[in-house]
Amino acid sequence: MDTKSKLLLIVAFMLLGITTATIVNISLNFREYSIDSAIDKANMTATIVKDGLTAHMVNGIMDKRQYFLDKVSTNDGVKSLWVVRSQNVTKQYGEGLHSESARDAIDAKVLTTGETIKEVSEKASQILLRVTIPYKAESNGGSPNCLSCHDVKHQDTLGAISMEFDISAVRNSGFITILKILSINLLFIVVVLFLLNHYISPYTKLFTNLRTGIKRAHSGDFTHNFSTSVGGDAKLIISQMNTLFGKMQETFGDIKYNLATFIPDGCVSSSDPLYEAKMIIRELSDIYKFKKTIELDSSKDMVYIRITDVLKTKFEIAHFAFYEVSNVLSERKLIYISEAGSICYAEVEKNALECRAHRTKTDVISTEFINLCQTCDAKDLKYVCIPFSINADNSLVLSMTAKTEEELSRINSHSLSIKNYLEAAKPVIESKILMDKLRDTSLRDGMTGLYNRRFLEEFIDKIMGQAQREKETYSVMMLDVDFFKMVNDTYGHDVGDKVIVAIGKVLKENTRNADLAIRYGGEEFVVMLHNASDEGALEVAHKIHSAFGALTFDVGAGEKLQKTMSIGVSKFPIDGDTIWKCIKFADTALYKAKTTGRNKIVVYTHEMSEDENVR
Ligand code: GH3
Ligand code: MG
Ligand code: MG
Repeated sequence: MDTKSKLLLIVAFMLLGITTATIVNISLNFREYSIDSAIDKANMTATIVKDGLTAHMVNGIMDKRQYFLDKVSTNDGVKSLWVVRSQNVTKQYGEGLHSESARDAIDAKVLTTGETIKEVSEKASQILLRVTIPYKAESNGGSPNCLSCHDVKHQDTLGAISMEFDISAVRNSGFITILKILSINLLFIVVVLFLLNHYISPYTKLFTNLRTGIKRAHSGDFTHNFSTSVGGDAKLIISQMNTLFGKMQETFGDIKYNLATFIPDGCVSSSDPLYEAKMIIRELSDIYKFKKTIELDSSKDMVYIRITDVLKTKFEIAHFAFYEVSNVLSERKLIYISEAGSICYAEVEKNALECRAHRTKTDVISTEFINLCQTCDAKDLKYVCIPFSINADNSLVLSMTAKTEEELSRINSHSLSIKNYLEAAKPVIESKILMDKLRDTSLRDGMTGLYNRRFLEEFIDKIMGQAQREKETYSVMMLDVDFFKMVNDTYGHDVGDKVIVAIGKVLKENTRNADLAIRYGGEEFVVMLHNASDEGALEVAHKIHSAFGALTFDVGAGEKLQKTMSIGVSKFPIDGDTIWKCIKFADTALYKAKTTGRNKIVVYTHEMSEDENVR
């Protein structure tokens, strides 16, 4: 029941209560009043009858009393009236008139006790008041003295007068009065309820409207338009609510739209944009933490263990197998399986193209077609297989199994989120694969331990592609020893080699893991500083330059040799869109250093390229 109905009902009950109380009170008063007035009348009549009979007695016309009694009986409201005489009087004066003997127990009791009896008998048709009043012998010197004629003692009962009054008329007029009061009250109640309804309706409508809007807001819908016919503060509140809801709708829509760019649509979809935003932020936060963790992991295998942990704990997938596929060898290698041999044929390992998910590069869901993956031997199990490409050479396959369709659909509902995790892991896995390859000794220079030119030729495209995807930068330095030929010529090749080894040491000491130091040619080196600022790159260049300049080489006979170097610096991808171009530009800057006095660091500018023909 709504508030308005409750309020109206309460008011109606209260008014009806007051009406009922009034009516009960009035009817009781009416009854009492009609009985009291009838008793008064009875007392008066009793006195008249007593005086009349006494007068009859004194005047010696007692035998004519019936006429008098009949006359008194016709008084208004008197239904019947009779006089009875006591035994004393009967004994002294005989039976009297035929009607003067006790008619009932009440007459007899009053004659015996000398007490007045009043009785009301109420029937639907009428109300009768019976009053029987005793007449007592008086001898108090007044006139007449009862004892002078009657053989009785003072205060003995001489007789009694019984009267019956019909007080129905009073009751009827009471009824009519009550009906009138009732009608007036009911009319009053109707008017009050009407007015109440009229004045509170706008407020209850306002509350209903507010409730509807807030209920919709709870489920994320802020489009409700609040309205009210109530003026003043209520109108102001409604207008503020509309402004607030408008802003909420716009803000949550924006948040949802912007967050959706970070995460595939439908991953945590809900009709409530607030809830959806919360879930997307949670998902992004989890993925961010996951990515930060795996970035610091030491190897690709460690990252794979993390992925299996996420599948087991976050997505609560009990049965699954996780494979790494080499696209070059077309081989599939098992990384993890929850129950040995539970999912796929071993022959798939030898020919990765047997794996439907890998071959088709689409999710394989067993419920979509009978026996969908022909090589899957998990016949009594339902499965979802997700392929995921890391780069041109490597990809992953995840096979998850379920015993029931419900479990399968639960797993399936997580597949977008699982792909988000794999997407986050992708650049990390890719860089770990790259790092593994970089450890290959054939790509290193034997004399300095730095990467060699072959490394640069083989991996620079991959490094560059990753840098472009991840918006990374490289500061490229080209270094060359000044007048090195002279060292060989003057002190021999051994001393020259010592200088080259020393450069390798200086470069290792002044670069970080993410940087690349390469022996580019004889005594020419390329250093690529990862994500360094312009100032940071120059700082490193100066450190290398001065560290090398400070070195002294023992050339025999107590003689010491010191050398200097020139450095050219460019920046990828600001100066050129490929690393090769940037190496060339660094070389251009180096040439500038050589031609303008050597022993210096020169940063590449595009004007230098315009002078290239001069070189
Ligand atoms: P510039 O200041 O113009 O660079 O003069 P430079 O004499 O250093 O000229 P350049 O850079 O062309 O000199 C290269 C010399 O480096 C030629 C070669 O004999 C020498 N060289 C190249 N590789 C090695 C090596 O592995 N060991 C030794 N000892 N010398 C090498
Ligand atoms: Mg040189
Ligand atoms: Mg050189």
